[in-house]
Amino acid sequence: VSTFKGKTVALFGLGGSGLATAMALAAGGADVTAWDDSAASVENAAAAGVKTGDLRTLDWTGIDALVLSPGVPLTHPKPHWSADLARAAGVEVIGDVELFARERRAHAPDCPFIAITGTNGKSTTTALIAHILKASGRDTQLGGNIGTAVLTLDPPKAGRFYVVECSSYQIDLAPTLNPSAGILLNLTPDHLDRHGSMEHYADVKERLVAASSTAIVGVDDSYCERIADRIERAGTKVMRISKRNVLADGIYADGSRLILAQAGAAREIADLSSIQTLRGSHNAQNAAAAVGACLAVGVSEPDIRAGLASFPGLKHRMQPVGRKGEVLFVNDSKATNADAAAPALSSFDRIYWIAGGVPKEGGISTLGDFFPKIAKAYLIGQAAPDFAATLGTAVPHVLSGTLERAVEDAAADAGKDGAGPVAVLLSPACASFDQYKNFEVRGDAFVKHVAALPGVSMLVE
Ligand code: ADP
Repeated sequence: VSTFKGKTVALFGLGGSGLATAMALAAGGADVTAWDDSAASVENAAAAGVKTGDLRTLDWTGIDALVLSPGVPLTHPKPHWSADLARAAGVEVIGDVELFARERRAHAPDCPFIAITGTNGKSTTTALIAHILKASGRDTQLGGNIGTAVLTLDPPKAGRFYVVECSSYQIDLAPTLNPSAGILLNLTPDHLDRHGSMEHYADVKERLVAASSTAIVGVDDSYCERIADRIERAGTKVMRISKRNVLADGIYADGSRLILAQAGAAREIADLSSIQTLRGSHNAQNAAAAVGACLAVGVSEPDIRAGLASFPGLKHRMQPVGRKGEVLFVNDSKATNADAAAPALSSFDRIYWIAGGVPKEGGISTLGDFFPKIAKAYLIGQAAPDFAATLGTAVPHVLSGTLERAVEDAAADAGKDGAGPVAVLLSPACASFDQYKNFEVRGDAFVKHVAALPGVSMLVE
């Protein structure tokens, strides 16, 4: 990072991406003083050659910026919180996405930069866009909230494409963010605990699309609908997308067909029906957004269709992992509560459902609409007795206890189904930590148990 060359920067938060940011700033010639509440992180950073110092006792005169790592709270209950001190001294407080945006403007202002935000579907949409770009032979960098810190990506240069997932937090700390294409997928009142109010949460997300050369906005909820109208009135070029409503202008899903409506004419731009990794109306929203962003940065329609068709999907999110005859094995381990399990349950017609773990409040009582298509449920972990009570006589079920046993039981029953295509679906509607370290480890265990079944062709490594 060279935009802070010769400047003095304070940085708080020395986890993985904070450390990477500190090193990138120092390598670019900035004088960086970094700190963290964790002594181990400070020690680790010092060992990596980063200058460390307690920001609570820092003299803020002469400091050009305070950089906060993703996840560090903006307001802190503690006295002498760096962000408060910095603001009081008139020092700007920014994050790594802002540093990236400045770097891009300084070195390659025309390199395409696609930024993605929303309540749900961010990672899927981000990965899908990056996949379409890569599959079309473009030099593509994928990062942000999805995993790789933006400052550890290859540096901006002409012809390089950036696809960056942005959390509200990162947008909040990026005052001059200006993507070529900005996506706002949807807004539902989640995460309010962290963002204080829905209004602030929505305002932050609106800023990302308002600042984009092309704004791609999902208009299936009232917040986003109003945002699209407002930023359009203010002069932003808006492309609307919908997973359920016909649009006069924009991209919408008609069943599994994506329709591009433009200048009074409407035509099919892609058909998702045979793409296993993009099943369900939630994925139609993600795919429509991806198509919109790819069109905005100049990808051809055949390249977009080819990329959609070969999308491998994201691990643990409704991911098809194996097949045996009519039985498809699907890993949706990421679904750690009932709401998150709903898209997968709505995406298959006949389901052998593996669920359970550590339940959230309310259990699976909100999923009753899906019960008729669940052929049988295989219950695991702490939630098993409660879930059994909720399923009652509506859904046949068995207390399998462990995931391994559930996979064996479900595979045996599904193999005998005979009524056409069926899914053995791990969509647990529960956290994993009674039996696994996290949802990734649980999903990997599912894949391993599926692979151990006789006669299954695996669709993943
Ligand atoms: P995020 O990165 O925003 O958390 P992901 O792409 O990781 O979202 O998807 C997480 C889960 O959210 C998926 O397993 C699916 O159940 C659900 N989901 C994905 N896309 C959407 C969408 N467009 N609308 C609603 N729910 C979605």
